[in-house]
Amino acid sequence: MRETNFLIENNARYLWHPMAHPAEMQAHPPRIVNAAEGVEIVDVHGKKVLDAVGGLWNVNLGYSCGPVKKAIRDQLDELPYYSTFRGTTNSPLIELSYELAEWFKEDGLTRSFYTSGGSDSVETCLRLARQYHKINGQPERTKFIALKKGYHGTHFGGASVNGNQNFRRNYEPLLPGVFHLPAPWTYRNPFGTSDGAEIAAAIGRLFEEEIAFQGADTIAALIVEPVLGAGGVIVPHATFLPLMREICDRHGILLIADEVITAFGRTGAWTGSRLWGVKPDLMSTAKAITNGYFPFGAVMISEKVAEVFESNRNAVGTIGHGYTYSGHPVGAAAALAMLKETKRLNVAANAAARGEELLRGLDNLENKHELVGDVRGKGLMCALELVSNREKKTPAGKEVLQKVQDVAYDAGVLVRTSGPNVILSPPLVITAQDVGRIVDALDAGLAAAGGR
Ligand code: PLP
Repeated sequence: MRETNFLIENNARYLWHPMAHPAEMQAHPPRIVNAAEGVEIVDVHGKKVLDAVGGLWNVNLGYSCGPVKKAIRDQLDELPYYSTFRGTTNSPLIELSYELAEWFKEDGLTRSFYTSGGSDSVETCLRLARQYHKINGQPERTKFIALKKGYHGTHFGGASVNGNQNFRRNYEPLLPGVFHLPAPWTYRNPFGTSDGAEIAAAIGRLFEEEIAFQGADTIAALIVEPVLGAGGVIVPHATFLPLMREICDRHGILLIADEVITAFGRTGAWTGSRLWGVKPDLMSTAKAITNGYFPFGAVMISEKVAEVFESNRNAVGTIGHGYTYSGHPVGAAAALAMLKETKRLNVAANAAARGEELLRGLDNLENKHELVGDVRGKGLMCALELVSNREKKTPAGKEVLQKVQDVAYDAGVLVRTSGPNVILSPPLVITAQDVGRIVDALDAGLAAAGGR
């Protein structure tokens, strides 16, 4: 391997990073990750740290998941690629479709359509939603409703339904006909209350108003994350998603659950929709579907939507959408192994138990450090929102967040920051001891950044 200085210099010179300013790379070179084992990563200097980011919300089973690695190697030997465009398919993908139908049966989702990642899955959901209405004789249903603070990837469709300006402004104009409702957020919202049930009801009223204003017959779908992830881990009240489902049903609007983060146990339930007792019409998945070891995604389709597509014999029912890597056999083999390991290890139960411990630890940090304005989480997706003034809820600055992250890293834990939030999404196989390490490292980071 080349020497460290060569890597740092040439990373800055030649490589543009997602979600980063190219000019930042000299001043704040990214950490070069060279190896990983269990729930830890090893940087170019040989330093081992606990990965409380879990790759990017995706390495649910950690970095040493033998069965997934073996499935990938074996499949590369057997059939490294073939397309699934009309006329060909492959065996691991058929087996995976069978297993996913079992996995998502309780959510009412039995058909699958494959993609290369989360943004592709979101794009697929948006397109299938529009096509569903066209087949159904309602071609004017083309609009989408989404939530502010929602994150749905970076394709033009996904960016259009994204609810954060950082992902929108530089790329406008985006899709016309997209409207946003406030997030079900107790800490900051326009309703003057922190009562989750009241907030849910208020958003429901705004949704109804928007439907009346736009005309229900023009709206294709509502897209929501069951727990908003990248927007800062916003956990809705238990009444929120059932209310959205009920309103959608009353107006013939499809409900798309974007479960790219939540589909395989991260919230402590097997799916985010199940967490709230809701059955979506379409669901986007990706990330942990291969434990992060191979780029892959699946859109899960309800019987209701499937029935409309499958009973239609006209050209409008043909799915004019798909990717070269839709249904990649190596991804399918990895996903099959992931499902088996995920079930065997019952990681959702561990996510729920460790998540409660983590939340308790973070609550203690809130009591101890003025810098912590809010603590949120469900299962193993948690966030600390940092503020420079608690009364005024003034978001903490970038330097404060950087300091917390750097000191936590020195203390042996990698955390992620996004805006004023410290985001935690560790592998779902962490132990109670790992939870302690995360809390201790954050304690050190917050103390150094100005907490008491
Ligand atoms: N949807 C959600 C809810 C996500 O969290 C993400 C990524 O974080 C995406 C979509 C986009 O996925 P990808 O980055 O794999 O394209």
